Parts: sequence; structure tokens; C-alpha cells
Amino acid sequence: MNQMIQENIQKIKATLPSNVLLLAVSKTKPNEDILQAYACGCRDFGENKVQEMTAKYEQLPKDIRWHLIGHLQTNKVKYIAPFVSLIHSVDSLNLLQIINKEAQKCNRVIPCLLQFHIATEETKFGLSLDEAEEILKSQEFLQLKNVEIRGVMGMASCTDDEIQVRNEFKQLKSIFDVLHTKYFPTQSFKEISMGMSGDYPIAVEEGSTIVRVGSSIFGERKYTSD
Ligand SMILES: *Cc1c(COP(=O)(O)O)cnc(C)c1O
Repeated sequence: MNQMIQENIQKIKATLPSNVLLLAVSKTKPNEDILQAYACGCRDFGENKVQEMTAKYEQLPKDIRWHLIGHLQTNKVKYIAPFVSLIHSVDSLNLLQIINKEAQKCNRVIPCLLQFHIATEETKFGLSLDEAEEILKSQEFLQLKNVEIRGVMGMASCTDDEIQVRNEFKQLKSIFDVLHTKYFPTQSFKEISMGMSGDYPIAVEEGSTIVRVGSSIFGERKYTSD
């Protein structure tokens, strides 16, 4: 019984406004840890690997909402299409088309976020605003009926410079505002997935609606893959 997980969740939740979702990032962590968080009321869990998420989905309670937060290869979409709750990491039209196709086979509409590149590091995935607008204006996009774009996602630079991190979150918020006004003037376009263990308080101040917190809940990961 890992008492720390429950204490960590309670501490973090106490600092979050009620409209901000705490997404517990459980990648690399065992089912026992996830069940601890579940016992504390968490129902939203984030994973970055399709195989790991699928295995956990099969083994754990069915009212868990699984969020895919890592880079998604098109050939793996089919494994998560039946059950994934939200895909945070959509960064191409091709990927959206495959998600749409697999969602159609499952007779469902899959909620997605567009991932933006806001950090200075080159290694992080994500679109620019121009690239996103090109997708959203295209005929191909307008034909997709089995995906629903719910908002945006981004990762700030890995730096101690709080001003830089804050500016990157502001940038994502302004991208959200542009897309909301120009392409999705709907209630369901409302999510800004930003903030991790090291920077979620800043992200919340800048308008985050989903914080993706792993190590501050479950402890350091032994193997990081990103
Ligand atoms: C691992 C991961 C997180 C959580 O990171 P922590 O620093 O452990 O909170 C959040 N978002 C993404 C995309 C991740 O891959």
C-alpha cells in the first residue's frame, strides 16, 4: 500500500481549480499504483505507449478513461480506437485520417487534441499554427466525421526559466483562442492540455484545463522514454 500516492493526489488536487482535470500519467507504473490513485477518485490516466495502455485497459476497471499523450504511430491506432477516451498528440492530417477510419470501424467518434510545438527544443513533436490551419482548412479534414477536435496540447521547454515556460504556455493559450474563434466556435472545443509535474502551477495560471502529472503523483520513473 503506497500511502504516498494518495497523499500526493490530495495535495495536488487541493491546489487545482475545480475546472482543471488532473490527468494521472501512469506510464511505466504498475497496476497497483494505478489502483491506489483510482481509490482516491482518479478516473483519468495518461499513457504514452499503445501496447502498455492496451494491456492496462484490459486489466483495470472499465470506468477508467485512458488518454494517449505520447507520439502515436498510424499503424497502432487500431489497438486503442475501441476504448481511448482522448488522444492528446495529434500532429498530422494523415494521423487524423487514420484515427477517423478506425473510429468509424468501432462506430464511435474519437475526441482528439491538436499537439503544438511550443518549446524551444527540437525534439518535441507538434504543429505550428500555420500547419494546423492548413489541416483545418482542407477538404480532407472537413470530411472527417468520426474525430472531434476538443482543443490543444503542448509541452513547455524543460528549463528552470519560469518566464520562458510561462511565455510558452501563453503562446499555446493564444493558439487555442485563434482556433476557437476561426474554426471551432463551439462549446466542445474547450481543452488546453498543458502543465506537467515541474510546471503545472504556471500552466494553470495561464489557462490550462488538463494538467498531465506523473512523477509528482507516482514518484520518479525508472525508465523514461521521452
Ligand atoms: C511523461 C509525460 C508527462 C508527465 O511528466 P511528469 O514530469 O512525470 O509529470 C506529461 N506529458 C507527457 C506528454 C508525458 O510524456
